[in-house]
Amino acid sequence: MNANRRGRRSILRTIFSPPATETTKDSSSPTPLPGVAVRLRGSLQLRHVDAGSCNGCEVEIASAFAPTYDVGRFGARLVASPRHADGLLITGVVTRNMLGPLVRALAATPQPNVIIACGDCAVNGGIFANAYGVASPLDDLVNPDVRITGCPPHPDDIVHALRTITGL
Ligand code: SF4
Repeated sequence: MNANRRGRRSILRTIFSPPATETTKDSSSPTPLPGVAVRLRGSLQLRHVDAGSCNGCEVEIASAFAPTYDVGRFGARLVASPRHADGLLITGVVTRNMLGPLVRALAATPQPNVIIACGDCAVNGGIFANAYGVASPLDDLVNPDVRITGCPPHPDDIVHALRTITGL
């Protein structure tokens, strides 16, 4: 088979194969959270802040936003600055080195906003709760509106949690 025919077959396979996106574990639209999340219905711009994670949570967040889980189809998007965001998606324990940047990111996020603790470390300190480099529990700085447990959380759980905010 020559290269042109192989190329044509590959294009046809791409056109007629089903999408790679997974169906979510909960196909119905979740009930939106009360409060500020109601105002974010359908569109949620998030600034991700790694406050001291091992990067396991980041791998799963990347999956949640990549084509397989594609949380973008439910209105969630990552943005480059807290000033452009509706809220923060925080991972990791709050380390001494990241305390200042996290406080500045919180201050720079316009009010009213939504704060999401993603992963056991952000929710309750996880396996690093009493480590020497930890500055403070996240709860001492801010009261998260949404808590996504798991070490790391499954992308499906991240998608589901963000859908409770966008309501899609
Ligand atoms: S919750 Fe688990 S995967 Fe996420 S930052 Fe903590 S140790 Fe790493």
